[in-house]
Amino acid sequence: MTSAIRHDWTKTEIQEIYDLPLMELIYKAATVHREYHKADEVQVCTLLSIKTGGCPEDCSYCGQAARYHTDIKVQALLPTETVIAHAQKAKETGSTRFCMAAAWREVRDNRDFDRVIDMVKGVNELGMEVCCTLGMLTEEQAQRLQEAGLYAYNHNLDTSEDYYKEIISTRKFDNRINTINNVRKAGITVCSGGIIGLGETHADRMAMLLTLATMPKHPESVPVNALARVKGTPLENNPKVDIWEMVRMIATARIVMPASVVRLSAGRIEMTEAEQAWCFMAGANSIFTGERQTLLVTPNPGVSEDMQMFENLGLKPMENKKTVSSC
Ligand code: SF4
Repeated sequence: MTSAIRHDWTKTEIQEIYDLPLMELIYKAATVHREYHKADEVQVCTLLSIKTGGCPEDCSYCGQAARYHTDIKVQALLPTETVIAHAQKAKETGSTRFCMAAAWREVRDNRDFDRVIDMVKGVNELGMEVCCTLGMLTEEQAQRLQEAGLYAYNHNLDTSEDYYKEIISTRKFDNRINTINNVRKAGITVCSGGIIGLGETHADRMAMLLTLATMPKHPESVPVNALARVKGTPLENNPKVDIWEMVRMIATARIVMPASVVRLSAGRIEMTEAEQAWCFMAGANSIFTGERQTLLVTPNPGVSEDMQMFENLGLKPMENKKTVSSC
């Protein structure tokens, strides 16, 4: 029998899942995973930072916040042709989703936004799923992005509502929810997850999963990030996230949001192939890949290393859902 998609989870139920004996938890998650997804397929996404650094926000994990002294070089909005050339290359190396990230607090209705609209149109014309992460959005801005062909918008919750103020003081948890609602209203798919290793408690992790899993519609994509400790940020000395905590988080997300794509995101560079294999077993079915250093804010493993890992693990890149559904 297929596990039902539920929106009425309680914190206790989610905690009970997270606390299962590890092998039992992975087995359960792997079972749910097979009910809703092809277990040998992993979506390959490429992330490009289209505007880097100089951000007025104070997210304590982020090297792009202007107030921290990090090694990240500030880069103004890239030319549209450069972005399209990156997307073309990503497509040729097996990516089906192209995510463009700009270090903005919010979108402003100015020429830069007009250029992002052109980028969205251009990447869309390549037949890729186009995703953006640009900060807070109004309903009208979301609508413009949708009309340009935007497939997904990334806006992470980061952590629980209670812990949010310890990590970011320049905006509120409610602002995140508002933007997610605006994205939904415009008919764009939602990519939203969080980060572990920020100093949060297990209860905070459960609260974050509860917010996601009780949304009227689950995010189509749920990134689970392990803190990438960036030198110069307030969290640079946080302990490295334990792999089994990451596996537990992925497995719990998989069980409570069975149909969503669960994305193994930041922190992957610090994982061995065997550790990543456990994450795939626990229900992760998407990764970010890319050129090791160029234009990515924190490094990801290179494309060829990932393809070798797929071969070793008997995995293959997922087909472009957009192309499949429009055929
Ligand atoms: S809003 Fe985004 S780019 Fe700006 S500091 Fe926070 S995470 Fe970094």
